[in-house]
Amino acid sequence: MALRFYNTLSQQVEEFSPARDNTVRMYTCGPTVYDFAHIGNFRTFTFVDLLRKCLRANGFLLDHVMNITDVDDKIIRNAVAQHKSLDDYTAVYTKAFLEDCDTLRLERPERLVPATAHIDDMVAAIERLTAGSHTYTSDGSTYFRIATFPGYGKLSHNDFSGNLAGARVDVDEYEKADARDFALWKAPKEGEPAWQTPIGPGRPGWHIECSVMAIKYLGDTLDLHAGGVDLVFPHHENEIAQSESLTGKPFARFWLHAEFLMVEGQKMSKSLGNYFTLRDVVAKGHSPEAIRYLLASVPYRKQLNFTFDGLKSAATAIDRLRNFKLRLESESYPEGLNEQLAGRTAAAVEAFGNSLNDDLNTAEALAAVFEYVRDANSAMDSGEFRGGNAAPALAFLDRFDSIFKVLQPTVVANEILDSEVESMIAERAAAKKSKNFARADQIREQLLEQGIILEDTKSGVRWKRK
Ligand code: AMP
Ligand code: ZN
Repeated sequence: MALRFYNTLSQQVEEFSPARDNTVRMYTCGPTVYDFAHIGNFRTFTFVDLLRKCLRANGFLLDHVMNITDVDDKIIRNAVAQHKSLDDYTAVYTKAFLEDCDTLRLERPERLVPATAHIDDMVAAIERLTAGSHTYTSDGSTYFRIATFPGYGKLSHNDFSGNLAGARVDVDEYEKADARDFALWKAPKEGEPAWQTPIGPGRPGWHIECSVMAIKYLGDTLDLHAGGVDLVFPHHENEIAQSESLTGKPFARFWLHAEFLMVEGQKMSKSLGNYFTLRDVVAKGHSPEAIRYLLASVPYRKQLNFTFDGLKSAATAIDRLRNFKLRLESESYPEGLNEQLAGRTAAAVEAFGNSLNDDLNTAEALAAVFEYVRDANSAMDSGEFRGGNAAPALAFLDRFDSIFKVLQPTVVANEILDSEVESMIAERAAAKKSKNFARADQIREQLLEQGIILEDTKSGVRWKRK
């Protein structure tokens, strides 16, 4: 099945391919680095990671830009309160964000671009918007006049025709589906840091950074633009208004939006206080793989309710797959090929790919994996699994893991290495052979204390981490 996505702009599921030369030019909105990111934020970033991997699985190359918002109202407020420069303040959280991305195995975009490295580009864009009569100034700030952009509302599907004039807003985010002239450039308040520029002292608004950096690196029309669903309005609507006023061309062909991670019926958010950072959850003893699995398991256009029970089920699901892999690698099977099971494997591989290509239906893709694992396990139990069925089964697990990335356990600092475990197992085997059972038991206990479980099977010793 060809790759298809639900496009917020057209409100339809559409077949996707890049406009030019097999490369997907994509932009996704990145974090505001004023604090540690919470796992709600990471639901959206995990979706972006899955999106990247599925695009590549379809043979496309990627040119993906993600911004780091390292200047905004909250950052300035906090940096001023802590008597720090903006750079010193944001460096801590940018670093933390990248570490957290590594923990969750999220790939880096081809270009990760900080807003503050593009102030000149933003000023130039605002000057061009002014030359095109799309702006006005008031008290040293420059605003975008949305009445000059008749398409305003086309992404959020709001009809603003009745109220396009007049009111303006200084904050970057506003809830109401109400059209407002928004700030492109904000004059500094008393004591705030500011850039000295030809359009006056100040700093950029949030929306202009994404338009400017997207067009700079990817051209006038992107193949795909994505972010969380809270960005549809006003952020992405404003990005479209600025970008299309600058270029006269459609800004992005496809718009994808991830639904919220919820807690007891409410969006997980800093302002509601109902959030956990990734570090909080890992510190409670949950593995990064379980968190990644949970965030990936529900299709991105559905809300996902976060619970610790959900995390435990995710860990159990991963264990089931790891055990299956271990069984494939360590047991020996009669020679030959079970043709029926081979057909079953091929069908499961196809169902897996088709589900992902169907607007990233991760739930169905996982169902294809688990139904297959159940059937293959029972074929192993009944002796119908053959040696020739092992390689395709392992290849399917590899395919699964090239997208979901959960099979390899995270190695914690001070954790015993695989090679050390193997050499202790060899020592134990030697002890057993020389009938030194006390030593053999001692080694088993020692390994258990380090979280390693040994299992003696017909085909030798198998081990896994707890
Ligand atoms: P921010 O750092 O606030 O700019 O947010 C970074 C990303 O996280 C944006 O794409 C938001 O849409 C997304 N986001 C924020 N809260 C949630 C949530 N509860 N669930 C999913 N995504 C979220
Ligand atoms: Zn953005």
